[in-house]
Amino acid sequence: MVVGSIDLLPVADAVGLLGEYSELYPEVPVEAWEPYRALYPDLFSGYAWRLPCNCFLVRTEEITILVDTGVGPPGLWDWTAENEGELPASLAKLGLGPRDIDIVFLTHLHIDHLGWNTDLEGIALFPSARYVVHEDALTFVRAQEGRAHVQRCIIALEGRFETVSGDFELAPGVSAFAAPGHFPGHMGLRFASEGQRAVLIADTAVHPALLNEPDWVYVADGEPAICAATRNALLPELIDQDVLVACGHYPGSGIGRVVTHEGRVVWEEAG
Ligand SMILES: [Zn+2]
Repeated sequence: MVVGSIDLLPVADAVGLLGEYSELYPEVPVEAWEPYRALYPDLFSGYAWRLPCNCFLVRTEEITILVDTGVGPPGLWDWTAENEGELPASLAKLGLGPRDIDIVFLTHLHIDHLGWNTDLEGIALFPSARYVVHEDALTFVRAQEGRAHVQRCIIALEGRFETVSGDFELAPGVSAFAAPGHFPGHMGLRFASEGQRAVLIADTAVHPALLNEPDWVYVADGEPAICAATRNALLPELIDQDVLVACGHYPGSGIGRVVTHEGRVVWEEAG
């Protein structure tokens, strides 16, 4: 997919079953999911949430950015994986090796977004990259240093991180914005080039159903009320606008458009 002169490409890493919807959204009646099962069948396995965990590659004329690093090497995360550990092969399919990444931009530091920061020994997987992350996210996970993935993917990389604290331009046409609520320091990216636009919403609406139900509470949203406020504030920029909307937990490429269809706000994969 292109946004003017910027490439925005999905980089598959993993897909698996996270758990039952009734446990992950305890306030949402099971039957309320049925319209979304019809809209997004790939995100359902029975009553469980089938969760793709994909990253994105952003390529401008000057710079190559990997947005998030996925679940990481297979077998480390306690979920029911169908496929894991694909990110290095997915990058190779794009003709890229680890040394070709100039920036690793981490939207936040949940376990499914940082897994390939390092190899199994805790060595930076992307040796030439600047690792850019919000200072609040880093502070938050440093306090969890007893957790294995934090030790390997964060503590082992101390000194490598370049921290930011607010909205900023990551590269020409690529700007990071605060999207608070899901995780401390959670950020998304806006792209603008040659009159075209895209928004990478990260985990602001971690399931596309939340685009139509922005007040539904997902148990892993750190501050649910703030997360809902962020969704509600962002939606007018996305719905029925000439803008691509990307999320690594959405089906297929994860790049599409948010449109009103039969009175409901839906995400449709871009062709
Ligand atoms: Zn996530």
